[in-house]
Amino acid sequence: MSVLVRSGVGPLCAVARAAIPSIWRGKYFSSGNEPAENNPVTPMLRHLMYKIKSTGPITVAEYMKEVLTNPAKGYYVHRDMLGEKGDFITSPEISQIFGELLGIWFISEWMATGKSTAFQLVELGPGRGTLVGDILRVFSQLGSVLKNCDISVHLVEVSQKLSEVQALTLTEEKVPLERNAESPVYMKGVTKSGIPVSWYRDLHDVPKGHSFYLAHEFFDVLPVHKFQKTPQGWREVFIDIDPQVSDKLRFVLAPCATPAEVFIQHDETRDHIEVCPDAGVIIEELSRRIALTGGAALVADYGHDGTKTDTFRGFCGHKLHDVLIAPGTADLTADVDFSFLRRMAQGKVASLGPITQHTFLKNMGIDVRLKVLLDKSNEQSVKQQLLQGYDMLMNPKKMGERFNFFALLPHQRLQGGRDQMNARQSKPFASPVAGFSELAWQ
Ligand code: SAH
Repeated sequence: MSVLVRSGVGPLCAVARAAIPSIWRGKYFSSGNEPAENNPVTPMLRHLMYKIKSTGPITVAEYMKEVLTNPAKGYYVHRDMLGEKGDFITSPEISQIFGELLGIWFISEWMATGKSTAFQLVELGPGRGTLVGDILRVFSQLGSVLKNCDISVHLVEVSQKLSEVQALTLTEEKVPLERNAESPVYMKGVTKSGIPVSWYRDLHDVPKGHSFYLAHEFFDVLPVHKFQKTPQGWREVFIDIDPQVSDKLRFVLAPCATPAEVFIQHDETRDHIEVCPDAGVIIEELSRRIALTGGAALVADYGHDGTKTDTFRGFCGHKLHDVLIAPGTADLTADVDFSFLRRMAQGKVASLGPITQHTFLKNMGIDVRLKVLLDKSNEQSVKQQLLQGYDMLMNPKKMGERFNFFALLPHQRLQGGRDQMNARQSKPFASPVAGFSELAWQ
């Protein structure tokens, strides 16, 4: 038994990454409507005020959806907000090791589930394409393991701008892209290592083949409904125009019950909660697909296990930003409720986690991989960057404990693995899931 990171991807050397800002998106949360120095009337604010004047206050979910993904003016649609010069930075942008270890996780699961002849790697919200690029580099390095496997990449992305950035990262413009804005597959290409890659706006359009799904910092941007417990029962938080201040929005409570209340558990003990129906729909779809065709899904995000209350917040230029000020210029996000994701998967597939990023990456062999890269690098600045990146990803006070990993797997993966191993090796739990237990390689 040997650890894959030591042998398999050893020859890879360090890849340049942006400098790491001191604040990242997962760190803080605010309850919103704080006074701001200036409140520019953005096109999005004008659009929202018009909407509210015409049809009345809107839910926080509708606000988030409009602000982030409105096809004409949405925050995500026309800009690259990631990295040092953007609004926030994510783990794959900080260190190549992150994507490499995730690549190993997918290969390890592919092997544990019988080495299917087809392998669809599906990423939801791929950002700049850095993570999938790092994963594919590992796949190339382990070409001998994957040699008889028909690999394809499927990216679910609503941002026109980021899909262009992803295409550049993955294809380096070696082969021209095919585009068709009207089709559910709005772009197609071939990666620099010859793997077909397709872009979709919706998971439902991705072919239902044997797939491995990845969602990193994706679920936290999906729209949430917010509820406050009152003496009259749960009341939903809405967004309205402030009657006291021109061109300003404010939070208000609905006067009566609203439909999204069905998502609140009967035994809920918190007095303020956030629910994300879109996350439920996506988890149900992933679960249905995995139950039907096998594969696995890996979700990594900041979040909690059904304990937190008000986590809705904004980020602009690596700083916390009032969610109601200058909408469309800042990222909006809310912590992922993993207990809700687990509930949505229940009965269809097995789930593992959430476990902290620190534990997951440790189990995947991050220390060994860091050592290999440090030993291979002669430049002091590169070594320093690798060490800083490691600290950012792993330090419990930084991303190490704030971020969590969660997986969906077919029921047979856990039961079958155990039975198989029991029969062959009389060793219980001999086929553990990497990351959630220490990575082992037969
Ligand atoms: N996974 C990347 C980027 C995270 S930012 C990383 O870790 O670096 C969120 C990503 O989700 C962006 O690519 C954004 O454009 C995309 N996105 C946001 N809302 C989406 C939606 N409803 N459907 C598909 N993609 C979405």
